[in-house]
Amino acid sequence: MYPRQFEYVAATSLDEAVSALAGAEFAKVMSGGMSLIPMMKLRLLSPDVVVDIGRIPGLDQITDAGDYVSIGALVRHAQTASAQNLPRALVDAASWTGDVQVRNRGTTCGAVAHADIAADQPAAILALGATMVARGPNGTREIPADDFFVDTMTSALQPDEILTEIRIPKVGGATAYDKLGRRGGHTDYAVAGAAAWVQKDNGTVTNCRVALTGVGTKPTLAHGVAEALIGTDGSEQAVKEAAERATEGVTVLEDLYGSEEYKAHLAKVYTRRALTQALAQL
Ligand SMILES: Cc1cc2nc3c(=O)[nH]c(=O)nc-3n(C[C@H](O)[C@H](O)[C@H](O)COP(=O)(O)OP(=O)(O)OC[C@H]3O[C@@H](n4cnc5c(N)ncnc54)[C@H](O)[C@@H]3O)c2cc1C
Repeated sequence: MYPRQFEYVAATSLDEAVSALAGAEFAKVMSGGMSLIPMMKLRLLSPDVVVDIGRIPGLDQITDAGDYVSIGALVRHAQTASAQNLPRALVDAASWTGDVQVRNRGTTCGAVAHADIAADQPAAILALGATMVARGPNGTREIPADDFFVDTMTSALQPDEILTEIRIPKVGGATAYDKLGRRGGHTDYAVAGAAAWVQKDNGTVTNCRVALTGVGTKPTLAHGVAEALIGTDGSEQAVKEAAERATEGVTVLEDLYGSEEYKAHLAKVYTRRALTQALAQL
């Protein structure tokens, strides 16, 4: 199917892109187009204006900024997947995103802005406690990952804002991401998956964040897991007990790929796997 007619703006600067967004009744940013174009062709989305940011210079770099690593708006999944200076959870999440064509066109910022309930990188971003930098008509603002994912395909970004950068803090510790893809293994969107970040000091777990994907209406922090694991020795038994709390306070939803019960089971399994892989690195 063809999309409805729309105006196409190939912005050459962020200022131009922001003013094109602000001046339209219903505009959408396009970065890689890997999700936007299929949705427009299926007529699930019919914006009046598409603001293509793909030609704006200076947004396609992963840079070390001291306390954090910055991922620019046009950094492709493939770049994130081969970065040496990003945490393993995010690198693995990017390398298991779609196929090679999708990874060469789609962007990490686009995947995060899109906020699909079964996407890979949003869970990693949430577990890592990243900060999103948004640019709009009133300037730039920072949005912590904990406040960024609002609902299904809905983020805290305003319609006239562009996600220009994701900042990954250099927090130390170790991270991992694991998922069951819709076609088995790591291929395709997650039926369910978990990203974990853990820190240990003198044999004791001092910090822990686990984020789930594919389980609820948005990437969700498993607070109960962190509560159970912090203060333990991070042993196999401690991880097993903590993972049992993966869905505590989480509204688990069934979908085409699994019942509520199966999804809850997978959330626990993948929480345990991600935590075990992260702790094994410490
Ligand atoms: C065949 C196929 C398989 C896929 N498999 C997977 C998978 O296994 N796992 C997975 O996680 N994803 C998967 N995806 C989705 C893929 O990761 C998309 O590339 C990604 O979700 C969107 O990134 P993009 O840069 O292409 O964004 P676009 O398609 O350009 O935009 C997507 C949405 O985000 C908004 N947006 C994009 N960039 C910005 C920005 N900088 N600021 C504000 N809003 C913005 C757009 O307005 C739009 O609403 C798959 C896609 C395809 C086509």
